[in-house]
Amino acid sequence: MLENNQVLLATSNKGKLKEFRKIFNNFEIKSQSELNIEEPIEDGLTFLENALIKARHGASESGMFTIADDSGIVVPGLNFKPGIHSARYAGEDASDLDNRNKIIEELNKLNLRSLPAYYVCILVGVHSVEDPMPIFASGEIHGEISIESSGDGGFGYDKLFYPAGYDISMANMDPDEKNKISHRAIAAELFLEKLESLRTK
Ligand code: IMP
Repeated sequence: MLENNQVLLATSNKGKLKEFRKIFNNFEIKSQSELNIEEPIEDGLTFLENALIKARHGASESGMFTIADDSGIVVPGLNFKPGIHSARYAGEDASDLDNRNKIIEELNKLNLRSLPAYYVCILVGVHSVEDPMPIFASGEIHGEISIESSGDGGFGYDKLFYPAGYDISMANMDPDEKNKISHRAIAAELFLEKLESLRTK
């Protein structure tokens, strides 16, 4: 049961906050920075565990229903890397460019120009740390990760990621188009249905 319309979104990323506020526009979204909540240590082994760690931490600090997300890119042919380490694949302070260069290096080592890959986003919502029934949703977008860098848009691995059914990289895609087909958009839409149903439970 959601007692009021307020939910906390456990992220300090302004871009994500904006995107999710648009999608969850029937809810009053508070951010962690508004409430001066620090980010927890993400020491899970999976996207799901890390999203749950963030959601529980936010709920325990705020007392509010809290939503958290975790996302990244998975390349099965590279032992499912970068996975949960997507933001720091090339090292703790790695830039997006460093991370893309590391992917290119790994593909070159295997003498490959590309490999199948997918982006994934997991969303989790909890009422409290003890909530026995977290709500969750996941979204994926499949395609190829390539040594061929192309486009100026997006962020992260987008310049190297070519979604299936498109002959352009994600960084060449119109942002509105990306926001319709992305792993985040798919997860958010599925999550929204579950969040809406909490109002009536
Ligand atoms: P986080 O969910 O903010 O921890 O993001 C993890 C990392 O995954 C990002 O820093 C990016 O490297 C990568 N990533 C997640 N979603 C995307 C996307 O839509 N495009 C490109 N890279 C992404």
